[in-house]
Amino acid sequence: MLPILSALVDLVLPTRCAACEGPRRVEEPAPWCAACAAGLPKGLFPLTNPPDPLRGAWVYASYGGPVGAAIRRGKYGQDEAALQGLALVMAEASRGRLPRLDVVVPVPQRLSASLKRGFMPTAILAAAVAKALNVPLRHALRRQGGQAQAGLNAEARRENLAAAFDARGPLVEGRVLLIDDVITTGSTAASCARELLCAGAKEVHLLAAASAR
Ligand SMILES: [Zn+2]
Repeated sequence: MLPILSALVDLVLPTRCAACEGPRRVEEPAPWCAACAAGLPKGLFPLTNPPDPLRGAWVYASYGGPVGAAIRRGKYGQDEAALQGLALVMAEASRGRLPRLDVVVPVPQRLSASLKRGFMPTAILAAAVAKALNVPLRHALRRQGGQAQAGLNAEARRENLAAAFDARGPLVEGRVLLIDDVITTGSTAASCARELLCAGAKEVHLLAAASAR
């Protein structure tokens, strides 16, 4: 929908908060109502044992709260604006809370999923974080084949991921920050990190919007 049209629809039909599903006025911080937005984290949580070979890992929030609700609305409700709203608050929370980085890289998603939605959630999050950190954004990884991870057991996930990611373009140098929407076992990010290290990265860190652990 055109932005002007969507603004008009917002005026006529008040939207619902992604978290509590109560009414949300246009001036409230999308996709939440002001009360739910007030409960959003102001910083990042470091993961104590980041999966090898990640050097460091941070999450913005737990999947159970308002952040998870925004991700579900974005991904399954095809609502790009919900992810833009989340990207803004997550980027703000990451300012000054990460080590020095040289490049931000989104975890790529399956092409079929991106085509169906018309947007890639991790790319939206990565663009906002890159801007807040004043670091370049690079789509340095692509995802080839493989099946969706949901519903696979740990062993099958590992096998599915082993061949799923491939670094593309020139070498990726320096310290990389990978961006994912949800971290569960961390095996997706670990596969991406291995690929980036092979492509020349010095170290790889991860920032995920939500932890489903
Ligand atoms: Zn709410």
